[in-house]
Amino acid sequence: MATQINTDVLIVGAGPAGLASSALLSMYGIENLVINKYGWLANTPRAHITNQGTMQVLRDLGVEDRAMALASKQKLMANNVFCHSLAGEEFGRVLSWGNHPARRADYELASPTEICDIPQTYLEPLLLEAAASKGGKIRFNTEYLSLDQDQDGVTAHVRDRLSGEEFTIRSKYMIGADGARSLVAEQLGLPMTGEMGLSGSMNILFDADLSKYVAHRPSVLYWILQPGARTGGIGAGVVRMVRPWNEWLVIWGYDISQGEMTLTEDEAVKIVHQLIGDDTIPVKIRSTSTWTVNNMWATEFSKGRVFCMGDAVHRHPPLNGLGSNTSIQDAYNLAWKLALVLKGQADAALLDSYSAERVPVAETIVTRANNSIKDYPPIFDALGMTASDDPARVGALMAARKGSDDAAKAQRRALNDAIRRKNYEFNTHGVELGTRYASAAVVPDGTPEPEYTRDAELYYHPTTWPGARLPHVWLDHGGKRISSIDLGGKGRFVLLTGPGGEGWRNAAAALADRLGIALPVISIGPDGSDAHDIYADWYYQCGIQDDGAILVRPDNYVAWRSDRLAADPQIALAAALMQVLARRDEARSVSAA
Ligand SMILES: Cc1cc2nc3c(=O)[nH]c(=O)nc-3n(C[C@H](O)[C@H](O)[C@H](O)COP(=O)(O)OP(=O)(O)OC[C@H]3O[C@@H](n4cnc5c(N)ncnc54)[C@H](O)[C@@H]3O)c2cc1C
Repeated sequence: MATQINTDVLIVGAGPAGLASSALLSMYGIENLVINKYGWLANTPRAHITNQGTMQVLRDLGVEDRAMALASKQKLMANNVFCHSLAGEEFGRVLSWGNHPARRADYELASPTEICDIPQTYLEPLLLEAAASKGGKIRFNTEYLSLDQDQDGVTAHVRDRLSGEEFTIRSKYMIGADGARSLVAEQLGLPMTGEMGLSGSMNILFDADLSKYVAHRPSVLYWILQPGARTGGIGAGVVRMVRPWNEWLVIWGYDISQGEMTLTEDEAVKIVHQLIGDDTIPVKIRSTSTWTVNNMWATEFSKGRVFCMGDAVHRHPPLNGLGSNTSIQDAYNLAWKLALVLKGQADAALLDSYSAERVPVAETIVTRANNSIKDYPPIFDALGMTASDDPARVGALMAARKGSDDAAKAQRRALNDAIRRKNYEFNTHGVELGTRYASAAVVPDGTPEPEYTRDAELYYHPTTWPGARLPHVWLDHGGKRISSIDLGGKGRFVLLTGPGGEGWRNAAAALADRLGIALPVISIGPDGSDAHDIYADWYYQCGIQDDGAILVRPDNYVAWRSDRLAADPQIALAAALMQVLARRDEARSVSAA
C-alpha cells in the first residue's frame, strides 16, 4: 500500500509564509507538516526590509532578540540615495524607514519593536528553527503535485524528489504558501485580478568592498539613475546592501519582450561595475537570477479546506519592501483561527474571515508597490535624462539644474519634489501598520471609523476601534517594562479593562469556563493594577472609559470594545466573543437571553 502521512495542517512551501505558519501553529499546539520542493531555504537574500508588524509577530514567537542579532539596524538603513553611480554624481537622498528626525518618533511610538533589515537568507533559517523547535515537522525535497478535498479533509499528492516515490499526505486543512508561481492557487482556481510579467528584472549577488562609496551615507538601497536604468525592471537600477559593506545585490532591468534573459559572469561583472561607476573594484559574483514585475492579487484566498497565503495570492515588485512582511502577517491572521477551529473552540465559519480581512491588504500592498514604480519617471524627467538619447546632451541637461535662471530653478524644484515623493516608498508607516479589518471576526461598537488626521499611507494612526491593531504603549508589570502588545498574543484572547472594570473579570471567567477557552482579564491603570499605566499613555490611547473593556484577538487586533461596564457584562462579552468565534447559535441564544 502507498505511504500516507497524516497531519492536522499540511503547509506547502518553506518561505516566510509557510515557515511562519508552522512556527505559529506549533506555538499554538497544532500538529503541522511543512513540505518544500527543494533541499534548503531561500538561496538568495530577496526580502530584507522587516517592518514593525513582522517584528511584532517575531516578538510573539519569542525570537525577536535573535532576529535583531541577525539584522542590520534601523540607523544603518537611514538613506535612500539617488545617484548616477556609486562613484558618480549624487542627486539627493531620502531619510528612510523612520530615520528622519520628524518620523523617528512615529516609529518609536508605534511599536516596542524596531524596523530593521534581515536578508531572507537569514530570516528563513530563524523561522525554520522557531517552527521545528516548537514541534513543526519539516520535510525538504518533497514536491506538492495535486490535491483532492472532501468534507473531512484534504489529500495532497506529493513526490519525494530523492527517491522519486509518490505518496499522499492527509490533513484536516492545507495551506498553499508556494510562492508567486503557486500550483496550489492555480489548481484551486482562485480568482486573480491584475497582470503578471509586466517587466523583467535580474538579481546579481556579489561580494565587493564598497565601503569607500557608501559608509559615509549608510543605506540599504542606492538607486542608480543612468542610461539603461529605465529598461524593464523596477523603475531604476539598485545597488542593495546585503551585509555592510561587503555583500551586495544589484537589481537591473531587462527587456522582457526579448524572452528569457541569461547572463554570463563577465556580463554580470560589467553591469556591477557600471552601477558602481568604478571598474577597479574587485567583484566576486555569487549568483545571478531573473524575476518579473507583477501586479496581481487573488480576490479569494481559500477554497474549502485549503488556504493560500504570501506571494501565492499577492504578487508585486519589491518596492516598499512589503512582500515577505505581508506573507508573515497572512500567517499571523490565519494561524490562530485554524488553531481555534481545530481545537473545537471556534466554528469553521471563522476561517471565512481570513479572506475577508487579508484580500484588502493584498490589494493595498500590490497597488502601493506598483505605484512606487510610477514615481521614478519624474526623477529621470527632472534630470533631463528622458529628453535625449545623446549622452552629451543628457549631461548638459543634467548640469542645467545647477544654474541660476528660472529654468534651473524649476528643474531643481521638479527634482526635489520627485525625490521627496519617494517617501511613499520608503516611509509608508501607515501601509505597514495601519490595516483595519472589517469581517465577521470583528464586532463593531457603533462608533464611526476614526478619521485619518495625517496621510493614511505615510502615517500610522493607532486606535482601539474594533478591527485595528492593538496600540502599543509602555507599561510597568512588576517592575518590568512591557508593551501593551505583550499582554496579548500566544494564541489567546485577552480582555483589557481598568479601574471599576472588575465586573468584567467574573464575566470573563464564567465565559471562558463555558466555552473552554483561555480568556485572561488584565487591568491597566494605577499602581496595583495588573499593568501599571506609568506614563498614562494607555489612559489617553485606550479610547474607552476606565471601566470599559477591550477584547483583543490572538493576533493583537481589537475584536470588540465596550466604552463602559455593561449592564450585564457576561451577556455583552459572550455576544461579542461568540460572534468572533462564529459560534452563531450560541451567540443568538445569548442575545435572546
Ligand atoms: C529583489 C527582491 C527584494 C525583495 N525585498 C523585500 C523586502 O525588502 N521586504 C519584503 O517583505 N519582501 C521583499 N521581497 C519579496 C519577498 O521575497 C517575497 O514576498 C516572499 O519571499 C514571499 O514569501 P512566500 O513564503 O509567500 O513565498 P516564497 O518565498 O516564494 O516561498 C515559496 C516556497 O514554496 C516552495 N514551493 C514552491 N512550489 C512548491 C511545490 N510544488 N511543492 C513544494 N514546495 C514548493 C518553494 O520552494 C519555497 O520554499 C523581495 C523580493 C525580491 C525579488
